[in-house]
Amino acid sequence: MKIRALLIALLLLAPLLPAYAATPPKAGAICSKAGITKNYDGKKYTCIKSGKKLVWNKGVQISANPKPSASVSPREKTDPWVAASQEISEKLKASIPISANFDFLITSDANQLFSDHAKETLLKSAQFWGNTYSPSKTIPIAVGAPKSLESITKHLSNYSYSIPQWRLDELKNLKEDGMQLDVDAHPATDSVMYLVAGNQLSWLNVNMAKTMITHEYVHTVQVGLLKTRNGLIPCWSNEGSAIFYGNSIVAASNTNSDYLTLRNNWLAQLNFKNAIAGKSNNELLDLLKRSEEDFKVCAAPLRLGYSAGSLMTELLVAEHGHEKFVKWWVQSKNKNWKIAFKEVFGIEINDFYSNIAIPFLLKSSSTL
Ligand SMILES: [Zn+2]
Repeated sequence: MKIRALLIALLLLAPLLPAYAATPPKAGAICSKAGITKNYDGKKYTCIKSGKKLVWNKGVQISANPKPSASVSPREKTDPWVAASQEISEKLKASIPISANFDFLITSDANQLFSDHAKETLLKSAQFWGNTYSPSKTIPIAVGAPKSLESITKHLSNYSYSIPQWRLDELKNLKEDGMQLDVDAHPATDSVMYLVAGNQLSWLNVNMAKTMITHEYVHTVQVGLLKTRNGLIPCWSNEGSAIFYGNSIVAASNTNSDYLTLRNNWLAQLNFKNAIAGKSNNELLDLLKRSEEDFKVCAAPLRLGYSAGSLMTELLVAEHGHEKFVKWWVQSKNKNWKIAFKEVFGIEINDFYSNIAIPFLLKSSSTL
């Protein structure tokens, strides 16, 4: 009886025995079955046949990378630029071409990069933004060189629009190595666009020209939604989003450009690294607040509305998605944009600046 009980106990234990009784594998020690593996002390050992014996091989080092925790959401796993640019790429793929009513004037002396790519690039932009804003009226668009200012103003005056005097003065003084691109609100047509670029812009390439054209269409969308060019949303969102969507839409529609290259190229052009270098977190917070409406911070010379603004847009799109970002604009039409920001993103704007944006801006700057 006693022996029998012992045998049963042993039989019950049998399946457990190899795991229990096995000594840690070490190279050359006997193992039980070819092909089985065992991890021990940072190495993975495999049981191999050596002559007539089965022995553990010498083992291979196991990677020390921890497995990602299951609680991390997919959006948090990747860098914001990856998530944000993927989102825009997917949205562009899912969009359908729209027949936007553009009335183009393209003068014969226009910068060739703009004259070659304006139509196709603007139609692609209109397609991307179709769900958000689809122009219901014909939008006049003038593409020309500084010398053709007269035909540009005439084209826009066909729609009863006249360029404001201060802007006209800038355009009159524009040289062949300069450019002025802008979109203005115009009740009769929603907006007007003029892309005036000289022919001696050695730094300009196809992708940059396309991102600039795409940038201007973002202003067309903003004006279409808000019916005004400035004031309802902070300057950094106005310009920063135009940079972000300019880069991401162009990257998504061209196989020969990638988002990160366009983004970092623009951050370099805008002198982002120098603009924030050596600043304390409190100074940065102050600058971000000022980039809401102080054009000297948002635009030249610091251009933080463009640079930091594009990164903050990237971050918001990565964490909340494109639709929510645009929802914030739409809600800002009828209420203060700060209140709309809290409602849409669930965080006070100053907490967003301090706790989320500034660490991200510093991290982004360090990788440039
Ligand atoms: Zn702009």
